[in-house]
Amino acid sequence: MLITQWLLFTNLIMCERYIQYLYLYLYLYHYMKLMFILLNVMLTINRQFVILYLTFFHIRKTISLVNYKAYLRKGGRKRERSQMNDSIYNILEQKIEIIHQQGSVDLALVGPIQLPVQLSDQEITFQWYTWVSLKDLPSSKEDLLKALPNANLAFSQQSSILVYGDFSSADESFIRFHSICHTGDIFGSKRCDCGFQLQQSLKMIVENGSGALFYLANHEGRGIGLFSKSLAYLLQQEGYDTVEANEQLGFEDDYRSYEEAIRILKTFRTKPVSLITNNPKKVTSLSDAGMLVDRTVPLWGDVSDHNKKYLQTKIDKSGHVKGLETGLLS
Ligand SMILES: [Zn+2]
Repeated sequence: MLITQWLLFTNLIMCERYIQYLYLYLYLYHYMKLMFILLNVMLTINRQFVILYLTFFHIRKTISLVNYKAYLRKGGRKRERSQMNDSIYNILEQKIEIIHQQGSVDLALVGPIQLPVQLSDQEITFQWYTWVSLKDLPSSKEDLLKALPNANLAFSQQSSILVYGDFSSADESFIRFHSICHTGDIFGSKRCDCGFQLQQSLKMIVENGSGALFYLANHEGRGIGLFSKSLAYLLQQEGYDTVEANEQLGFEDDYRSYEEAIRILKTFRTKPVSLITNNPKKVTSLSDAGMLVDRTVPLWGDVSDHNKKYLQTKIDKSGHVKGLETGLLS
């Protein structure tokens, strides 16, 4: 019985949390059973001894339970990566760049990674990069790699870049800052033109011979997030336009920041860029951050009855340039 209890107790400490609850239950069951047997034996021997023994045992167990609760509050036994193999570390370390800027949070940029992409009937290989803000992560590469198993990065989204051709030094390079659109990019929703713009801007970059598409992960619904965007869509179904719907929910029209993306862009290229956009605010953001924009390249298309009002609102209220060639807007 004592051996069983000891085994249960050691397993309780060593296991992951959900197993720990099972062992805690078994441990308490065996503990009560043992106490009941001891109580009967001791009562037959000496009543005072039993009272003293139980008092001592109760205090001891209370202390151990308090310690155990504190242990759980600290997150229990964290998953710890064993020392990373040197050759593995060397492979990764060479592909990580830590980007420092006075007064800003450090960024970690990873890449390039070969990424073959199907664009209509062509297979095009892009150089793929991702980055993460090091606000809650260490800035040393070694410590960063060690911290990843406990960083829960899946609970926040990371942005990424598809680079094509000689992006750094080509005379004219196309840039697209594409805001994430779960419905348009993934599901192919016709309520906006994002899916079309994503595919079309990649094709334009390839046709130009060099460029980069920045896929900006915290820009869903112009920065209000996917859940709030679904509420805005409900209001749009009742007749509100995209700007009014955001305002009715208490949001401003646009929360998107391009600060991080521009910092990353500057690590690739210092020469002027040609920006694929219908949105003059993006040009202003780039210019304010010291990037030179040679020209803008408009991107209109895939206009349908489903997104006609949405696109018109972008022109009327959000200052987007008119897409005269679509015949939609006057
Ligand atoms: Zn969209």
